[in-house]
Amino acid sequence: MILFVHRKDLRVTDMPAFAYIARTGLPSLHLFILDPAILNAERARAHSGLRFLGLLARLQSLYRHHGQTLNLVCGTPEEIVPQIALVHEATEVVFHRDNTPYARHRDTSIHETLHRLGIPLTTISDQPLADPEELHRYAGRQSPYKVFTPFYRKWSEFVHTYFQPPVTTRLADLRTLVLDESIRQRYAPPYSLERFRGDVRLEAPEERLERFIADKLPDYAQRRDSYADDATSGLSGYINSGSLSVRTVCGKLLGEPDFEPWRRQLAWRDFYLYQSVFDPLFFEYEHYYDLSGLGDRHFEAWRKGRTGIPIVDAAMTQLNETGSMPNRLRMVTAMFLTKNLLAPFTLGEQTFRMMLTDADNVLNRGGWLWSASLGYDAAPYFRIMNPVTQSETWDPSGEYIRRWLPGQRGLSDRDVHRPLPHAVVDLKASRARAIEVYKRLIAEA
Ligand code: FAD
Repeated sequence: MILFVHRKDLRVTDMPAFAYIARTGLPSLHLFILDPAILNAERARAHSGLRFLGLLARLQSLYRHHGQTLNLVCGTPEEIVPQIALVHEATEVVFHRDNTPYARHRDTSIHETLHRLGIPLTTISDQPLADPEELHRYAGRQSPYKVFTPFYRKWSEFVHTYFQPPVTTRLADLRTLVLDESIRQRYAPPYSLERFRGDVRLEAPEERLERFIADKLPDYAQRRDSYADDATSGLSGYINSGSLSVRTVCGKLLGEPDFEPWRRQLAWRDFYLYQSVFDPLFFEYEHYYDLSGLGDRHFEAWRKGRTGIPIVDAAMTQLNETGSMPNRLRMVTAMFLTKNLLAPFTLGEQTFRMMLTDADNVLNRGGWLWSASLGYDAAPYFRIMNPVTQSETWDPSGEYIRRWLPGQRGLSDRDVHRPLPHAVVDLKASRARAIEVYKRLIAEA
């Protein structure tokens, strides 16, 4: 039998691992491990954890719906995987690849133990459209891509040539097994998933994709930054958790030249996944650049949405209340924290990781490095977004600010964007200070 472990692939369609298992003709035991190192109590209460658990509950329902079993356990994967493999006499362990440092460390350890036990481990690429290693080989370069545009050119060529249509193997084609009772009891999760199910319906990801393509995609390029209009797909949470495969998404769009601007955003996702493999500092910048001189004086005001800069406070209020924030406002709030407030980017990164329903360690880090002018192809340190100008440009009537900050509702379209008298910093002076500090920081690294 084959032991298959679900991770960021909370779905049952377009599963490359299912196709692999079906080819062996063997039965398989499917597992999801609630790892307390990832889903600790604090995260399980925050937007990011709640959304993930909701999508996991949906996965469990999908298994039931297809008359199959998803075995749910709680504990340390390094301990659980080899143990179950031994007890069930697995001939092979299979999972989809994950490249965050934690995942790499965990999977290396699992691999070593399985190797000692003589059980092979097969890992399959699933998260990106273009697997970073394969794209790198295809490009035939000595050094990795550091700039997005040439990366994007090669990426487009690669995806166009090698795009694998979604896998057709169905869960119903497999013979899933039930976990040994004593192991199930030993690693029983402390809670049932049902209460996290919320309003996530079984068809939710596919329906959202279809609705986006029909209603919003044709105008995406013109409207994506008009954040008051909610003109983007809202699919990131589904894509990051693997509830919707990125191949299913892309399969709908290939050959449609009008959809290029949206595909380009999916390429940014792959660019950061590529960096997480090829930029040796991607998860290390905070150790390499001396951020110790930067303080956290106004960090709490930023986190709670009380800086006195309306667009920043509105965006942080939306984040705190709903777990969402449009892309442009992620850039605006991140630049404001790292530049105007001169706080280390890691503070903001940590807040987003906890609060965003689509929190993803690679994309979140990519976004924060970009905003803090660190990492491959980041914003130049002297180009700092002015939150007031951004607000006036992308939402002239201030509709978004009024939606999230009731206190601003009575103001004119002009005044609604203006900093309040008690704003924690002066935008002009703090910008000049940030340019000085970042110039030094980058020169000294
Ligand atoms: P759409 O505009 O519909 O785009 C389609 C898809 O392309 C998205 O679902 C996403 O998978 C990808 N994408 C879009 N924009 C970006 C981008 N700038 N970088 C990489 N991929 C992109 N995205 C996350 O999914 N998780 C995060 O934790 C995250 N943290 C971020 C932190 C900061 C500071 C910044 C500036 C950006 C962050 N992003 C993150 C990227 C981006 O903001 C979101 O992907 C986007 O807002 C999701 O909305 P959507 O699905 O409607 O996107």
